[in-house]
Amino acid sequence: MSEPLTVVSSTPPPPLLDMLSRPTGDALMLGHVHPDADVLGTLLALGASLAARGWTLTYAGPHPIPDTLAFLPGASGWRVWSAPPRTFDMIVLTDCPNAVRTEGLLDAARGASSQVLNIDHHPDNRRYGTLNWVDPSAAATGEMVFDLIRALGHRVTPEIALNLFTAIHTDTGSFRYSNTTAKTFRIAAELTAAGADPALVSDQLYQRRRNDALGTLGEMLRRVQVSRDGQVAWLSVPRGLASDAFLAAEDLVTYPRSLEGVKVALLLREESDGLVKASLRGKGQIAVNRIAQRFGGGGHENAAGCTLSGTLEEATLVLLAAVNQALDSKSP
Ligand code: 5GP
Ligand code: MN
Repeated sequence: MSEPLTVVSSTPPPPLLDMLSRPTGDALMLGHVHPDADVLGTLLALGASLAARGWTLTYAGPHPIPDTLAFLPGASGWRVWSAPPRTFDMIVLTDCPNAVRTEGLLDAARGASSQVLNIDHHPDNRRYGTLNWVDPSAAATGEMVFDLIRALGHRVTPEIALNLFTAIHTDTGSFRYSNTTAKTFRIAAELTAAGADPALVSDQLYQRRRNDALGTLGEMLRRVQVSRDGQVAWLSVPRGLASDAFLAAEDLVTYPRSLEGVKVALLLREESDGLVKASLRGKGQIAVNRIAQRFGGGGHENAAGCTLSGTLEEATLVLLAAVNQALDSKSP
């Protein structure tokens, strides 16, 4: 087998185009844990594009598609695996910085001659593929896959457009975060012209709350805490206080993040087995992925995550201490 190849570029690498233009085979579009719109939209879009060229497609990951994303075209074909049934000629991963985030599925689906395509915008991508295309300047993997489908000369159907528009919409916080560029809007415009309906995406994502969700949201908002100097805001959610569906649908970390003067916002969710999942958000001053990396996690400079062990109170204190250390080392 040839040596693994890594290309860091904002244009699709020619070897990737060659690979996807070759005679077809059996491809697995493989998702990461707790799939979001960027991973799902790109896997479904690229999969649809390859299916139209004769590839046989399987879509799967370790976790189900959240209800809020069930509208994505092709979502009904998603499979949840604890182990893959066999190996595949080609495995495509998008938005997935490391193999651990497939919970063992990549290693088990990968045969000796499998091609593994790793397409991602995380700066800490571990280059686990046979072909790695990494573009940390992309706001979303959705931008990369749009360029890829275009470079392949494939048609951007309305279904592909809706998947990619949703991927970009969510990773940019509805085109509000600092990763949003002129290119983001150019691609969003082309996707809209190709049939993605921006209002439909907003309706599906934000206008389908259940009647009891506002009460729960109110309880959550009352739990937001702010440091004395106002630079850190956090929200710790004990297990059982809100349903998994509620937590998957609400991007709760945006509320502590929304406070003026906050430099780092945290959401900590108590999970089973003494684990606490943390989401970290920055606003350009503090690279929160460096903090997450200290706990075995990672992500982008302004959006990162990690999992801590211990009680919710312990995890909150440990993470706050790390955040304060990062703030102290930044202050003059
Ligand atoms: P979220 O807070 O929405 O779960 O994740 C924010 C960002 O951090 C995403 O880009 C996600 O891929 C990354 N991230 C979240 N948790 C982890 C983790 O445990 N490990 C790594 N490497 N990245 C993570
Ligand atoms: Mn992403």
